[in-house]
Amino acid sequence: MKKSIGIIGGGAAGLFAACQLKRLGVTETAEVTLIEKNGIPGRKLTLTGHGRCNITNRKDASRLKEGYHEASKFIYPALMEFEPEDTVSFYENVIGLKVKEEDNNRIFPVCDSAVKVRDALVSYISDYSKILCGTEVTGISVKDGFEVATSKGQYHFDTLILSCGGSSFRETGSSGDSYRFAESLGHTVVPVRAALAPVNADKDSVDFCRALSGVSLDAGISLYCEGKKTASMSGVILFAGFGLTGPAVMEISREILHDVAGKDAYLELDLVPGTSDEEFDRKLLDLIGGHPDTKIATLLSGFVPQSVASAVTARTDCGDLYAQGFSKDNRKKICREMKHLRIRLKGAPDLNAAYVTRGGVSLKEVDRKTMESRLVPALYIIGEALDIDGISGGYNLQACMSEAYLAAKAILSKKIC
Ligand SMILES: Cc1cc2nc3c(=O)[nH]c(=O)nc-3n(C[C@H](O)[C@H](O)[C@H](O)COP(=O)(O)OP(=O)(O)OC[C@H]3O[C@@H](n4cnc5c(N)ncnc54)[C@H](O)[C@@H]3O)c2cc1C
Repeated sequence: MKKSIGIIGGGAAGLFAACQLKRLGVTETAEVTLIEKNGIPGRKLTLTGHGRCNITNRKDASRLKEGYHEASKFIYPALMEFEPEDTVSFYENVIGLKVKEEDNNRIFPVCDSAVKVRDALVSYISDYSKILCGTEVTGISVKDGFEVATSKGQYHFDTLILSCGGSSFRETGSSGDSYRFAESLGHTVVPVRAALAPVNADKDSVDFCRALSGVSLDAGISLYCEGKKTASMSGVILFAGFGLTGPAVMEISREILHDVAGKDAYLELDLVPGTSDEEFDRKLLDLIGGHPDTKIATLLSGFVPQSVASAVTARTDCGDLYAQGFSKDNRKKICREMKHLRIRLKGAPDLNAAYVTRGGVSLKEVDRKTMESRLVPALYIIGEALDIDGISGGYNLQACMSEAYLAAKAILSKKIC
């Protein structure tokens, strides 16, 4: 009699798990059933990498782990056991999709199609795994294995992989059910909030951002809350109608807590990164001396795009002033806006607009070498359900893949089949 393995959630992690189970030969002696509430698996997967799917980041595990914040120690064994090189080999040699490398070690399929990635994964498993789409799991209980209640009836499994995702981009299906199920089985869920999300500006700053909508530049960003600097980084930022987005803003968003609404919280932008306030003032003074008949806004366009220079000078009432006779006080004002521009925050970033969820099932309750629950034997938890979020660049899908591999390997080694 074959044993049964249930995979709850057919997103990236669930599909990878089904693939790894087949690849490792588990499906020859066990029946694998993947249950997905949407009509088709991998909806979020098809949106990844702007529809191109950034499948991994080609770094060795010791460097890659640094991209997982507080979870770097937890995820390291998984990354060591199934590295980005293994992911590349899986795509090219197992499911037949050639890959290419782009800037910052990011790996994409040559076909530039996340839909084709999803389809190749589904096609690889479809002759072995049962795929039950349009089937919503409503409850899980432990009873001589696992009783899984769904919208289409009851199922029993000997082993369960929980991969229902997080709470970000809810319309793709990840509506926080992983947390509900994990809690019902005794697990602790670390409070969830947005990571890799755009940031909304409050009423004092939103007009400024809206006027520059579409403009991007390199900047330093620091997050301040109640007078304390809590995070900083640098990179590309993009002004938008609602506030700020772009890679550096999305990276820092995970540090913004839920309760900043109504508090003194802002992002401070350094529009001339790599130059100290004093150096900037000296450079400005030199420009002023060399171009007495030029407007200050025009001189500033040597540092930032003209539209940003005009918006910044407008904030200081210096917009129409010429270099000649420009006072020290005015220079100070310009320096403050160029080096310490404050964008006040409306509140915490919207989880629904976040690429990933920060928080989730506590890592203390999961074995990092197998992904098996420390509380419920034969329950494996993988993907965004866990309290792991990676930086952008293929880190999050690599985490799903490495975790899926560990779970599949552990299930095989238990000889349940
Ligand atoms: C716009 C966007 C772009 C991204 N781009 C990238 C990228 O290029 N590279 C990268 O590494 N990461 C990227 N990510 C992050 C990455 O997509 C996620 O980390 C990854 O999809 C998480 O996989 P998961 O399987 O854990 O969750 P999900 O992909 O969310 O899958 C969970 C699945 O479980 C199903 N489910 C939920 N509840 C139930 C239930 N009760 N019953 C049955 N099924 C259920 C859902 O319908 C869903 O299909 C991006 C994310 C977004 C939103």
